[in-house]
Amino acid sequence: MLHGNKTGSGIYLGKRGVKIRDILSEEIRWSGKTATLKDAVRANRNALKRLEKKGRKEVENFLDNLQADDRGKPLLLSFSGGKDSLAAMMLLYGYLPFEAVYIDTGIEFPETVKYVQKLCREMHVKLHIANAGDSFFDAIKNFGPPAKDYRWCCKVCKLAPVTELIEDKWKNGVISIEGRRQSESFSRSGIEFAQINPFLRKQIQLNPIREWGGLEVWLYILWKDAPYNSLYDNDMERVGCWLCPSSLQSEFKKLEEMHPELHKRWTSILEDWFERKQIESGLWRWREPPPKMHAAIGEKGTSEPKNPIELIKEEGIYFLRDLGRKKSEREMLASLNMLGHADYNDEHYELDMNGEKWIIKPPLDSEENWRIYPRHKDGEEEDDTDGKLILKQIVRGERCANCGVCAASCPTGAIRLDGIPSVNTESCIRCRQCFDSCVIHHYFNRMVLLREPDG
Ligand code: SF4
Ligand code: SF4
Repeated sequence: MLHGNKTGSGIYLGKRGVKIRDILSEEIRWSGKTATLKDAVRANRNALKRLEKKGRKEVENFLDNLQADDRGKPLLLSFSGGKDSLAAMMLLYGYLPFEAVYIDTGIEFPETVKYVQKLCREMHVKLHIANAGDSFFDAIKNFGPPAKDYRWCCKVCKLAPVTELIEDKWKNGVISIEGRRQSESFSRSGIEFAQINPFLRKQIQLNPIREWGGLEVWLYILWKDAPYNSLYDNDMERVGCWLCPSSLQSEFKKLEEMHPELHKRWTSILEDWFERKQIESGLWRWREPPPKMHAAIGEKGTSEPKNPIELIKEEGIYFLRDLGRKKSEREMLASLNMLGHADYNDEHYELDMNGEKWIIKPPLDSEENWRIYPRHKDGEEEDDTDGKLILKQIVRGERCANCGVCAASCPTGAIRLDGIPSVNTESCIRCRQCFDSCVIHHYFNRMVLLREPDG
């Protein structure tokens, strides 16, 4: 914005005015000419060439200096159908041979699925599709709708099928070119050129366009005359999952116009979990909405779903309310056994963990709660760490999404997937690596709401 001869970014302060943060103190002079996109590409061509050269060289140098163990791993491009992975594709296209991997989450825009297939066909790039099938709609029964701060779906519908594909086709691992950029989000601001996927250690990820800005991505695509996803011309910023909670309200409106049947399906699922007001205001898109969101709807709303799992701690006993009990004793024992020696006797589990004995009582009917408590030695200091781990393993046992990501992270192969994960207690060494990869451990605080004891 311009203010006198100053140029800067402005923050609207309501009736108090606009606060301007200075960036430039010089007056901006407009040439008066209208520039086209072609002009913008032409003016930035040398800068784009430098970016391209740097990205290509980084990939090439990395491949030239691979450790013996990594040689022979295929070079894949993670193609989402979005602009960033398209730019990464164009960076390598005609320069190095690669194959593409597309994750069909089962909730992709139909336009995107068609676009990815058509583009790869026309460019003669071999395409592998990791298909999540109906896993989103199966898992939502356990997790509830995802939110911006509760994106369990990324693990269940993206990480899980790609893990399965890699395990199936490239047992020794892969090198993946990604279109991720540092300026996309705070969590991506620290990405480096080469990284091992922490949840899928067989995947080396290379990020050759990590330092590019969004404008550079677009100019590069235009320079290369690469066909991009038509959804961008339809006011969509996100072209992957049509129900993504990170989408703007305006994008949901657009979805309603373009695909009324998908919009209707999603609204009817949301109605099982939220009040109409929470749906219409968009509050469902956060588990903990930021203050600006409350300000925008003009009153204190809640984004809590109906009937969440609740955790209450009273007089040293943890109560898990509304978790239910579906899994067999054998399955729950396998879950608890990763923490210590576990037994089931007389309608309760006993767990020896770090020299402490814990009693875990599952509900005997739908009115009862899970009860978990340690047999304390007198006067001993209370520490929540072990209790929290036990709670997470109980919820993991009961609400497992069968995504299989834990199986891929287990160093001893103790977890087998036969429809549902089963743990071999003989080969489990209690390393707990599967805890870090499990979506339930990761999002426990979003799945289970902490409550004060009743009155
Ligand atoms: S990852 Fe570790 S704790 Fe988990 S099942 Fe495998 S050996 Fe056991
Ligand atoms: S226990 Fe394994 S299969 Fe189940 S949700 Fe966690 S990571 Fe997925």
